[in-house]
Amino acid sequence: MIELKNIVKSFKRGAEELTILKSISLEVEKGEFIAIVGPSGSGKSTLMNTIGLLDVPTSGSYMLDGVATEKLRDDQLAEVRNRKIGFIFQQFNLLPRLTAIENVELPMIYAGISRKERRERAQAMLESLGMGQRSHHRPSELSGGQQQRVAISRALAIGPAILLADEPTGALDSNTGKEVLELMIQLNEAGNTIILITHDLHIAEHAKRVVTIRDGEIVGDRRTERTALSERQLTEVHR
Ligand code: ATP
Ligand code: MG
Repeated sequence: MIELKNIVKSFKRGAEELTILKSISLEVEKGEFIAIVGPSGSGKSTLMNTIGLLDVPTSGSYMLDGVATEKLRDDQLAEVRNRKIGFIFQQFNLLPRLTAIENVELPMIYAGISRKERRERAQAMLESLGMGQRSHHRPSELSGGQQQRVAISRALAIGPAILLADEPTGALDSNTGKEVLELMIQLNEAGNTIILITHDLHIAEHAKRVVTIRDGEIVGDRRTERTALSERQLTEVHR
């Protein structure tokens, strides 16, 4: 589904040219749950912005579901992004003046879904994440964990093919962070493709695959214990 080949991303800083991603090649299949780990400044968010079509690489090719994204115009990129990708951020990025349900409805407005259907889908999404009773609260009236659940509901509202999460537990205490992680595991078990950026190696072990990036290069790519475990359980079920 995602196929990055020799992706390079450079920025100009004064006369200098800084290369942040140095020939990244990465393939992600539908239904995977990948954690991307690496030190601060290694290029994780830059990579996520590239995968999320928020940012265009300097060179290299990015095929998304068989489409060469480098050939798309800006408006086409935005259309693909709105339809296929859900984002979750460390600081939730909810609009403070809108209620929970209005925040969840936003991407559906862009997707052209009718008012009535938007309301129903947003309410159902909030309910499925245990936020049904809070749908008319503003973000400031919610705890961090509750705000992140609203943000996850918003990301899932249009049924994106890929969920991109950049340090989604970074602003949460460890118990609330665990709940959000548990939620992501459930979403993956329900078939969602998840790419999770974290610098917490314990959290990364809950993904099925861990990709390590350092100085803009992939230096590790391995399956975790959890994949081994779920594969073992699968063989036992089929026996
Ligand atoms: P962190 O763990 O701290 O979030 P990161 O791995 O996500 O770090 P990035 O945000 O991808 O790192 O940044 C990688 C490098 O690219 C940093 O040195 C940063 O200063 C630089 N960088 C990112 N975006 C830009 C930009 N728009 N212009 C110039 N440099 C940038
Ligand atoms: Mg970052």
